[in-house]
Amino acid sequence: MSLSVRSLASGSTANSVLIRSPQSIIAIDIGLSSTRFLELLAQEQISTSQLNAICLTHEHGDHIRGAVIIAEQLQIPLVCNAATFAALRLPHLPWIDLPTGGSLQLGDCLITSFAVSHDAADPVGYRLEHPQGCVALATDLGEWTPELCRQLAPADLLIIEANHQPDRLRWCGYSRVLQQRILGQRGHLANEQTAALLLALHHLDPRARTVWLAHLSQRSNTPALALTSVLSALETAAVRSMQVSVAPRSQPGPHWRYQPATQLAFWDEAG
Ligand SMILES: [Zn+2]
Ligand SMILES: [Zn+2]
Repeated sequence: MSLSVRSLASGSTANSVLIRSPQSIIAIDIGLSSTRFLELLAQEQISTSQLNAICLTHEHGDHIRGAVIIAEQLQIPLVCNAATFAALRLPHLPWIDLPTGGSLQLGDCLITSFAVSHDAADPVGYRLEHPQGCVALATDLGEWTPELCRQLAPADLLIIEANHQPDRLRWCGYSRVLQQRILGQRGHLANEQTAALLLALHHLDPRARTVWLAHLSQRSNTPALALTSVLSALETAAVRSMQVSVAPRSQPGPHWRYQPATQLAFWDEAG
């Protein structure tokens, strides 16, 4: 078995990513209902006893809905910082403290968290390092910084937010307050910000990467719009080392698997 990653759901209603390595099975966020998550786990032929931990990015409902129920019923530990755990107000749940910026070894995976800018107690993204590859995830962030780029740079698979298209957001029916929240520095990343981040990332480290655009808004974005915004920016800058797709909202999405032969072929093509 090799390192593999699947998005189970991605968007403002529910988010969850499943990472499987030879020694560990880790979920990042479970915003789906616990029933739906367990159904998808069974489809992946994973038993509940194999799930080692649930890493939480922050305490918003679209990231924790099923996580807290599964942690309670199956005694699977939540991994998050103290502020996020306190914000859950469920002190009896099994918990592993991972302070922001810290690392934790889970089986053969090294998990590192890093701060992101979002309106939650202490929101983070994660980087998972394994001998077969590196996966990084940052969703729910209002802005990106050079430091965030450094955190994401080693990723072979990058799961990055492309939440909205600002001109659509203005007319999508959201209240002015909600629009300001989404557009703010502690809100969500617009397609053009995501594109700029990917270009900065390429300049920092031009390795071949798979990129999943994630956490798309249902009302102020579409998969085609997000993809076009990002691909046209990459095309204009002649960046051809990224394979970009969109993580679907409510069904299991792209599947990334460590494939040394494919990666070599991709390097040749990109080189
Ligand atoms: Zn969210
Ligand atoms: Zn959030």
